[in-house]
Amino acid sequence: MDKKLLRELPSVDELLRSAELKDLLSDLNPCIVKDSVRAAIEWFRKGITEGRIRGLNRTDLIRRIRDRLTVLTEPGLRRVVNASGTVLHTNLGRAVLCREAVDALNLAATGPVNLEFDLARAGRGERDSVVEGLLRSLTSAEAACVVNNNAAAVLITLNTLADKKEVVISRGELIEIGGSFRLPEIIEKSGCVLREVGTTNRTHPSDYTSAITEDTALLFKAHRSNYEIVGFTSEVGLKDMVKMGRTHGLPVVEDLGSGSLIDLSPFGMEKEPVVGERVQMGADVVTFSADKLLGGPQAGIIVGKRRFVDRIRRNPLKRALRVDKLTLAALEATLRLYLRPECLVARLPALRFLARPVEDIDKVAQEAKRLLVDRLGPGYTVEVEEGESVVGSGSLPGYALPTRLVAITHEHVKAERISAVFLSSTPPILGRINRERFLLDMRTIERAEDVCPDLSPAG
Ligand SMILES: *Cc1c(COP(=O)(O)O)cnc(C)c1O
Repeated sequence: MDKKLLRELPSVDELLRSAELKDLLSDLNPCIVKDSVRAAIEWFRKGITEGRIRGLNRTDLIRRIRDRLTVLTEPGLRRVVNASGTVLHTNLGRAVLCREAVDALNLAATGPVNLEFDLARAGRGERDSVVEGLLRSLTSAEAACVVNNNAAAVLITLNTLADKKEVVISRGELIEIGGSFRLPEIIEKSGCVLREVGTTNRTHPSDYTSAITEDTALLFKAHRSNYEIVGFTSEVGLKDMVKMGRTHGLPVVEDLGSGSLIDLSPFGMEKEPVVGERVQMGADVVTFSADKLLGGPQAGIIVGKRRFVDRIRRNPLKRALRVDKLTLAALEATLRLYLRPECLVARLPALRFLARPVEDIDKVAQEAKRLLVDRLGPGYTVEVEEGESVVGSGSLPGYALPTRLVAITHEHVKAERISAVFLSSTPPILGRINRERFLLDMRTIERAEDVCPDLSPAG
């Protein structure tokens, strides 16, 4: 350890008084500057003590302080280019909102709104009322309410209808969704007792009926979302569960996960369960996400029989899980688009990307190839090839959408390195790596320039 070097380290006060940091102190909260100075000195002290740093360079010290402050003062949430091939990418914020939702957000953000104020009666109103009517019309349900996300929707539904009682669910539906949503854990945290029936691949009606006791509160069905069971399988459909529920006087709750408000098959996509159809089949309560196939902001939607939804709304948890005015504004605007389904593809980004014709993707891919060949320079090979994108967020599992990929390789540079170059661009470009090749999936890219990094790959 170099004691002399340690003694040479300037003190926090000395640095704060120095001319080098004067501009920062006049601009920023002094506590923040002081904290960065302290952290930088500490970093050097540690380096010297551990023998990693053998000389003190004041310029380096100042740069370290400034770099730390830059990290703090620049926005952490940044625009990212999604060329990953996952249209509804949970890590990238799922659905991109429609223009109408953005306008509604803006309006709600910049002034007072009638969030809980009934203008007709000039008195206190109900928060969810701006979307309840729309949700009822679009799903044919008697009632609807909205919470923070679908995980919250499942939590509050179970807690309201089955607290301290048993919830019967097939083993084949005890799912885990990415990002720590595990159905058995949610059931437990809702205060309910999980009663699993059947086996992973096969569950029969008799499995449910023999599990029903006086402790049973409801029958639960979960959409498997991110996986499929194939081969020797058997599942009890919603209709049969509803029949059993009626016989035993038990509500049937379905967690649809993504769900869709309309049949997506006319848009060339495989059929995802339509919320309204599940309601009509007799499900007493259906929950689904607003930011998956629906294409709106993060929220969990609960629709169903009035008597159950009213009880859910009166649960004190509703206060803890309620959505804010911004979410409601964006959700209302998104739902309004569904009143005119023929303009959905044009207006709703999520659906526009999912339904995008492959010829259109190809055109942008060819353009991107030309730009990238120029931008990347010698040594790189850029090819356009056929590939497959996925919907993401547990929607339409096992379903692939034909797409075009721009594949980038280099004789000496590894795919990870190429990926890192694209990620360090502004804005960062997220592709994917497959068999040692860096791929840009063009399904969600509308302008070829968007996938051209602003750095030279040598840098
Ligand atoms: C996605 C999903 C959830 C979680 O929904 P969030 O809106 O992410 O909270 C729950 N259940 C199923 C079946 C899902 O697909």
